[in-house]
Amino acid sequence: QNQKTAWWGEDENLIRWGHLETFSPNKTFAFMVSLKRARAMKDWLGRGKGHGIRLHAVVKAGQHPGAYDVVTATIPGADAKLKDEEIAFSCHLDHQRPGANDNASGCATILEVARTVQKLISEGKLARPARTIRFIFPPEIEGTMAQLNGKPEFAKRIKAVVHMDMVGGGPETKAVFHATRGPMSLPSFVHDVAWAFADWVNDESYQFAATGKAHYPMVAPEGGKEPLRAEYSAYTMGSDHDVYQDSSFGIPAIYLNDWPDQYIHTNFDTAANIDPTKLKRAPLRRNEAEYDGGISNSERQFSPPPPGFQVPYDRRLNTSNRPKAAGDGLLTYSRKNEPRGPLAVFGYDYFAVHAKAAGVGTPKLLSYEGLWGGGEEYAYEVLNFADGKRNAQEIRDAVSAEYGPVALEMVVEYLKALEKIGLVEQVK
Ligand SMILES: [Zn+2]
Repeated sequence: QNQKTAWWGEDENLIRWGHLETFSPNKTFAFMVSLKRARAMKDWLGRGKGHGIRLHAVVKAGQHPGAYDVVTATIPGADAKLKDEEIAFSCHLDHQRPGANDNASGCATILEVARTVQKLISEGKLARPARTIRFIFPPEIEGTMAQLNGKPEFAKRIKAVVHMDMVGGGPETKAVFHATRGPMSLPSFVHDVAWAFADWVNDESYQFAATGKAHYPMVAPEGGKEPLRAEYSAYTMGSDHDVYQDSSFGIPAIYLNDWPDQYIHTNFDTAANIDPTKLKRAPLRRNEAEYDGGISNSERQFSPPPPGFQVPYDRRLNTSNRPKAAGDGLLTYSRKNEPRGPLAVFGYDYFAVHAKAAGVGTPKLLSYEGLWGGGEEYAYEVLNFADGKRNAQEIRDAVSAEYGPVALEMVVEYLKALEKIGLVEQVK
């Protein structure tokens, strides 16, 4: 389960970590060794007789119900009404050591946001925001799933999220920094606001790198001077932002993330590869973006962007020559209230388990490879779009715009499978 990049397999000293299947009927364990050690062992074993390797392991492992302690803290809002609404900063605190970029960087950064904002408020330099700002440090995905399901009041109060997963990778990691938009099923202006700030940091840091002078160079004394070249990226899956933005919660989330990182999930993901300047620039941008959201406006959907505000990403869809819905295309489904959250999370696939129990075959959509997305992404969005209003044809058109053309039959087959396992119901 380790991610491939262009540098994959190049450094034979890296020891990666991964995981075996969580609910495998075959109970076993594994060691991870470096490529160098693996090659040496292979070579040794290949020398024939008398060249054996003996491993001795005592492994105590099992599965049992447990409890998560999730650390969370708030800066209470000032407005009597709005303080019950929250803007959340999220990260994930759970990975193998050293885990510097993934994800000590995100956790340390939101902690620094909390410290900075609180200090400025205490010193009277910054007005207390109208809404409450929350900071959450959960284990990735399953922690957020447990929290939003186990404590539904969180899901109700949180109106927008800034999720940071790998935000400090220096040049050595090969990282590109992304300000990632949400899925098309949940359009929100918060992504545009985030990008407006990211773009500003890009400009200021470039100005400084290029001329040695800028109003806001945002350089840490011990950090690099390279410009931040953050990219405004289409929605990608893989962390807690998927949980928030799932239609059962419907909370827009700004996802700030490095990708690639040649050292992800290895013993080389160390603090030495983290750039203090980048860490310094990261929170500033999010911070201001969210602070803005924190002080304005009251409705759940916030207000539309002001006139003249440039939407950097073209969401317009040409609807003039869409095929008219007919036959199965007219089928309309509505997602049920439970279960909440994405169906496929680390180590567990709700759909696969329940489809098997109900004797439902694997829908073709799940292994479909579209132009800009794969089965898991199509499936996530088809369920998100099943709001009881859009028919199957409209859902097909929407996911085709998002991930590339897909046949209506595949979307219908998946929707019918969702109906059979009780996740959606038909609206007549
Ligand atoms: Zn990770």
